[in-house]
Amino acid sequence: MITRTLLTLVLTLTLVGSSSGQQLSLVFEPASNERDGWMRDVLQREGEFRTLIGHVNEEIAFNESVQIVFRPGDKNQAFYDEDSRTIVVSYGFCWYIVDVFTRNGVLKEDWDEEDFDKFILPVIDETILHEMAHALIHVNQLRPTDDEETAADKLVVFIVDDFYGSTENALPTSLHYRLLAEEAGGSERSDYLAKHPPSMERHDNFVCWIYGSDPEKFSGLLEDIGVDRDPDECVEAYGNLHDEWSQLLAPYRS
Ligand SMILES: [Zn+2]
Repeated sequence: MITRTLLTLVLTLTLVGSSSGQQLSLVFEPASNERDGWMRDVLQREGEFRTLIGHVNEEIAFNESVQIVFRPGDKNQAFYDEDSRTIVVSYGFCWYIVDVFTRNGVLKEDWDEEDFDKFILPVIDETILHEMAHALIHVNQLRPTDDEETAADKLVVFIVDDFYGSTENALPTSLHYRLLAEEAGGSERSDYLAKHPPSMERHDNFVCWIYGSDPEKFSGLLEDIGVDRDPDECVEAYGNLHDEWSQLLAPYRS
């Protein structure tokens, strides 16, 4: 009798544990130099990742634990490692985004933390969401209809809309892809293109989905930015994106 009660308790605790989905964790490894130390402090102080990750943990149950690790070093790294179920983002990657925005004049040389919050933080956020999408597709064995990179980009927009109540926060990410595409001048590295759509296509996709998520709020956005996509098709594309990810996540939503 006691054994059965204990068993019931253990099972209940296990079920509560899995349905609350607290399986995405966050680690900031110590910085190895002053520059990375600054980045680590800012990212931690913002607390935004914790809030965002807390939101994802509340909303989506991962079948296995996934760790997000911010790592020291200048190497430009942001990837999901299937073997260790780890999303690795280097402090160097965060600086790389700052460099792209600075050398293209989006950020002035004397940018401050307000500029950082406006342009850089959303791109770091959404890079993590993109890698988290790879992790989720892997550990929950999801089968999106698109290629995995496009499906991951769609999940970014889906979560941004859900978390912030608008896709506006994804605009800096679209700008980031545009800057990368313009810098590459139509010849992006073949190892990048082997895995991802060209950056300008990713830019156009993001702008199209952002517009499609709220055509009234973003009326004029396609023309203003110069994206040659049919507005009605963008509305339909966002609707399809929203439907597909809602269905894929339905068994894992709390
Ligand atoms: Zn990817």
